[in-house]
Amino acid sequence: MEYSKKANVAKQNNDGETKVCVKCKRIFNYSGYGHFYCPLCKKRDEEDFTKVKDYIYGNGVASSLEVSEMTGVNYNTIQQYLREGRLEIPEGSPIFIKCEKCAIDIRSGRLCPECATKLSNAMRIEMNFDDEEIGPVPKVIIGKMRFLGKEK
Ligand SMILES: [Zn+2]
Ligand SMILES: [Zn+2]
Repeated sequence: MEYSKKANVAKQNNDGETKVCVKCKRIFNYSGYGHFYCPLCKKRDEEDFTKVKDYIYGNGVASSLEVSEMTGVNYNTIQQYLREGRLEIPEGSPIFIKCEKCAIDIRSGRLCPECATKLSNAMRIEMNFDDEEIGPVPKVIIGKMRFLGKEK
């Protein structure tokens, strides 16, 4: 047990690099993948994420603002979960987020699949973009009045 713990730490020291946490500005050992949170902020972030996810599973489609009010999780944090592709807006929602390039509706992430395939490697680096941030386009767009009557 002790041995394996030590082995893990050693591995992190070799592979990781030192970063400043984007949330609390603490310096920590970055493991080389994901966003720049220190372990403490990451834990808090995961707890918030679970709250948001549980609320959406329990209550269905809701706007970010409503989810924020009901869970106490910061509105910008929820938007960020969507941008990071960790949270997905369900099919049938009247509200989606927009692709940063062509402004088509997407259910999560920052770009629609089409714009993502057109990105050059240089653009990806410049935008700090990774594949997790490609968002699926909704199959059916409700929100045009003609579908609303069918919903209830
Ligand atoms: Zn932190
Ligand atoms: Zn697009």
